[in-house]
Amino acid sequence: MKIIHHGAINGVTGSCHELVIDSRNSVLVDCGLFQGAETDSRHNSAPEIDFPLKQVKALVLTHVHIDHCGRIPYLLAAGFKGPIYCSQPSAKLLPLVMADALKVSFTRDQRLINNFIKRLQEYLVPIDYHRSVSIPLSGSSELSLSLRRAGHIFGSAYVTFRARVNNISESILFSGDLGAPYTPLLTAPEKPYGCDTLILESTYGDRIHPPRRNRCLQLEKILKKSLQNGGTVLIPAFSIGRTQELLYELETILYRKKKKAGNSLKELPIILDSPLAGKVTEIYKTLKPWWDKEAHARLRQGRHPLCFDQLQIIEDHHTHENMIQELTKNQSPAVVIAASGMCTGGRIVNYLRAMLNDPTTDVLFAGYQAQGTPGRDILQYGPQGGYVFLDGQRITIKAAIHTLPGYSAHADQANLVSFVRTMRKKPKKIILVHGDSRAKEILGDKLRENFAIPIEIPA
Ligand SMILES: [Zn+2]
Repeated sequence: MKIIHHGAINGVTGSCHELVIDSRNSVLVDCGLFQGAETDSRHNSAPEIDFPLKQVKALVLTHVHIDHCGRIPYLLAAGFKGPIYCSQPSAKLLPLVMADALKVSFTRDQRLINNFIKRLQEYLVPIDYHRSVSIPLSGSSELSLSLRRAGHIFGSAYVTFRARVNNISESILFSGDLGAPYTPLLTAPEKPYGCDTLILESTYGDRIHPPRRNRCLQLEKILKKSLQNGGTVLIPAFSIGRTQELLYELETILYRKKKKAGNSLKELPIILDSPLAGKVTEIYKTLKPWWDKEAHARLRQGRHPLCFDQLQIIEDHHTHENMIQELTKNQSPAVVIAASGMCTGGRIVNYLRAMLNDPTTDVLFAGYQAQGTPGRDILQYGPQGGYVFLDGQRITIKAAIHTLPGYSAHADQANLVSFVRTMRKKPKKIILVHGDSRAKEILGDKLRENFAIPIEIPA
């Protein structure tokens, strides 16, 4: 058996790996889009499918982030006819994510989008975590797969394949993106039993995350400042995952304050200005069976972790424009959560253009800001009163810029090492993917220090 990497080798986007079982059979794990700086020519990152599909028997999707599923329209256009295996929550989220991606990059023709989604749904095979499912192959080889919770975003999974070729059995585990523990709503990544070959992500293979304990307190401090100076708190956030985590934390703060009489935080409007995030949040609410214990405990207390009185969700564009006008004119405090998470587009850009030059505005980053994005520029130049270009317009930054540490959807170095340590059957080989070269090298050294397992870093 061999593994061909069609993406996420020299970077973190475009995830797509092909597990070749024999000359007539293979399966794909993820089919993601290249993003940000990795879309340039050096990365050989055209979205079109540039490999043969004749032998590809199935696609297995680890989660619905666009860098893991965004090339599915190209895959179908190239002739792939399913099945697409994924977890039950991913199967609920994927059509929404795909419809939004098509709207942004291909067409606004709703009929075409609906047709595509209908076709996609015919190919989707949702499977329960831990259930072993066999994939029909040509000839005598056998293959089965099972999913376990990866704790990265809702529905995320790592996948273990068990193959039998010429009477020899082998197991291969693809980690997909692994999460960090203590993520709101999500159970921590499950302990893996083991495998012969491990394909491990290494996004933060060179880093240890700061503790998550203080992040609620820091968020609360900034909210109080907004109340005092009448400014708006702008939080750029990804629609899937981070937005729901923030809502969860805001509910935590507001619930605690509600018990105290006369606390003005009770009056602070929280505005979720993102149609996609609003829809994703609605789907999250229907996925309660997959919520973690803490979220269930809150439900039992009569609380609604993703929904509270002060929350207003804006869908249409007209209300969005009015909201910007109202907030800039009235100097009334508010919190606005909007996409995109790195300020590369979406409604957050309109807010930033209107409010970045106002010293009462606070911009709060709760996620990674990639090189070359406006988010990174604001973070870098904002504190010195610099400027940023948004939609070709130069905007002077007078707002206060903050980073909320302790938010990461990815496992850090210690989490990745412990993923291997907890395996009862240790792999015979580990292949490192999904990370820049420094992260992979450092993680590779750390793994060699801890285990006598050969490490491969594909170039
Ligand atoms: Zn991801």
